[in-house]
Amino acid sequence: MHWTTQVRDAADRVAEREDLMFCCPGFEHRVANAGQRGLGILIERTGTGFAFLLQSRGIAHEDESKVGPTAGAPDMLINIACQTGMAYCPWCGRRLEDLAVSAPVGFVALARKHEGFRALQV
Ligand SMILES: [Zn+2]
Repeated sequence: MHWTTQVRDAADRVAEREDLMFCCPGFEHRVANAGQRGLGILIERTGTGFAFLLQSRGIAHEDESKVGPTAGAPDMLINIACQTGMAYCPWCGRRLEDLAVSAPVGFVALARKHEGFRALQV
């Protein structure tokens, strides 16, 4: 087999694996929005595999350091971000653990990328 054919075959296999990572466009778009303002999906590594967190952010992760106490502001707590775990895709119903099993390398990379995006529980 010629080397260009081998490279093309390898690239096709990688593309197939990336296709396996996302069950539907809704899930893929929310994963891409992780850490940004709005709804995002975070991937977290656990002792047994992966956790999937649906997160709402009022402020993008990169802007959190710009927020602080302001003179005259009301004395109350607000959520910068909050999240909840989920086992199934909210858009198509696919079991998310099955996605992680089909493309573990990609989900490890996402979990690494999403470290630090999780909301603090107070
Ligand atoms: Zn889905």
